[in-house]
Amino acid sequence: MTKVRLLIVEDDEVLRELLVEAMEDYGLDCISAGNGKEALSLLHSERVNFVITDIKMPIMDGLTMLKEWRKIDSDSPPILLVSGYSEIESSRDAKLVGAVGFHSKPYDVEDLHQLVMSYCNTSG
Ligand SMILES: [Mg+2]
Repeated sequence: MTKVRLLIVEDDEVLRELLVEAMEDYGLDCISAGNGKEALSLLHSERVNFVITDIKMPIMDGLTMLKEWRKIDSDSPPILLVSGYSEIESSRDAKLVGAVGFHSKPYDVEDLHQLVMSYCNTSG
């Protein structure tokens, strides 16, 4: 069985490392980026099954990253947006850009893991 490969995009280094460690503890293979631009360059060269991205980030935010990526590759893996800001607007934005959903911060890593697996299992 191939490992599920997850891309975690978060500008807060502490939060990013915590999430990477938590997901690795669940047995997932993780790569990470500190902003949308970094994430896009990773996505050009790496295969991932799922993306969890923060929305508010310097250099390139999560929504812009998603829109840019859709222009290049319409068949991208499921993307979950997370943010501590403006829940209603963010979840509306998430739908507009075709994300699978929106999760507000602070999140429960168990919830996030289950969500990732529910998408990765059904898409084979
Ligand atoms: Mg952030």
